[in-house]
Amino acid sequence: MQVTADKTYWLEHAWLGTHVEPGVALEVLPGGRIGALRTGAATPPPGAEVLRGLTLPGLANAHSHAFHRALRGTVQVGSGTFWTWRDFMYKTAQNLTPDTYFALARAVYAEMALAGITNVGEFHYVHHAPGGAPYADPNAMGEALIEAAAAAGIRITLLDTAYLSAGFGEPPNRHQLRFCDGSADAWAQRVSALTPRGDALIGAAIHSVRAVPADQLATVARWAEERGAPLHVHLSEQTAENDACLAAHGRTPAQLLADHGVLGPRTTGVHNTHLTDADIALLGATATGTCMCPTTERDLADGIGPATRLQQAGSPLSLGSDSHAVVDLLEEARAMELDERLRSRTRGHWTANALLTAATADGHAALGRPEAGRLEEGALADFTTIALDSVRTAGALPRLGAETAVFAASAADVRHTVVAGRHIVRDGAHTLVGDVPSALTEAIGALRA
Ligand SMILES: [Zn+2]
Repeated sequence: MQVTADKTYWLEHAWLGTHVEPGVALEVLPGGRIGALRTGAATPPPGAEVLRGLTLPGLANAHSHAFHRALRGTVQVGSGTFWTWRDFMYKTAQNLTPDTYFALARAVYAEMALAGITNVGEFHYVHHAPGGAPYADPNAMGEALIEAAAAAGIRITLLDTAYLSAGFGEPPNRHQLRFCDGSADAWAQRVSALTPRGDALIGAAIHSVRAVPADQLATVARWAEERGAPLHVHLSEQTAENDACLAAHGRTPAQLLADHGVLGPRTTGVHNTHLTDADIALLGATATGTCMCPTTERDLADGIGPATRLQQAGSPLSLGSDSHAVVDLLEEARAMELDERLRSRTRGHWTANALLTAATADGHAALGRPEAGRLEEGALADFTTIALDSVRTAGALPRLGAETAVFAASAADVRHTVVAGRHIVRDGAHTLVGDVPSALTEAIGALRA
């Protein structure tokens, strides 16, 4: 049976994973997958929608805490550390309700769509009402995030996060009661009531080895394994976490996770900043992924993680905007390379193709969507178009479009974002949310009120 295309796009230039191809006709099938992809189309076929510029697969934001967007700017006053920043972040979390979180996340996910992001991994831990009492629907907050992604037109993997303790052997503090289900079994029971639907997948997360006692790690890992779901964990972002883990358990966080069955190809360690040689070998040997969040890591003065060594060891790399100090996956991609240049005083650790692969295919795979992140027949019809005629990108050779996108373009150069064949961003405007800056202003203002 011949399946007829719903729609045809003509891509002036398309990044096909290894090179930039001029003149590509791309068909979208009913159901939102890519049908035929025809190169050598010098002019648009009749009826095709024209996308001028460089079209990439949709970008994957593999690590997000949507509410941190409300902190932008305000946390840049004064000095301090990750830990003083965290106190400020906790105060903002106190004001979230399912309604205010929906409004904020819808605006933040719309900002992501404007930046070419088609899929977000939301590392979600604000589960309960202030004080820790569950909402009438114990998943009201997670459902608000899923609804927000749908309203903004992007896909989400809700990485529902187990958060049980303030530190090794310490009960949650008063700020953390909202995050806490009491035990990993209670976490699993609550999360099991969430069902994947439409453009939303459900995954699991362990906040960190600080926040989930060692004897409960395996419960979370088993829940994810039984469902084939992605499992994410903040790993060794801070040396203080490593020191406390060594004192409590006589081993590093990576080793502790390995000993409790947490590592493996469905698992992604977020940050992976302060690792031993043995940790790197362990993450690589288990094919555990690494999600780098360079703009947050530099904002929080975390340090520079050993991403080159992790990848060489066998750990696939993905990227996330995490605290949303900025929402720009192109900036995350180039920052990974540029941080490594500063440290090593040599250039060229990753090619533009490799950086874009982290921002696309490998990021989507880390979120449980291996069918996204490629412009090829059968893949999800999710893509984004970067202008090659903006003040930042003008003059570039089109065949070097990948290098231009990664090393010169920014989120401001995103012209179009298409999810499942549907235009979410057209000519730089969000088709569903409309005025995204106003939506952000209102949502953030409501949290401050
Ligand atoms: Zn995080």
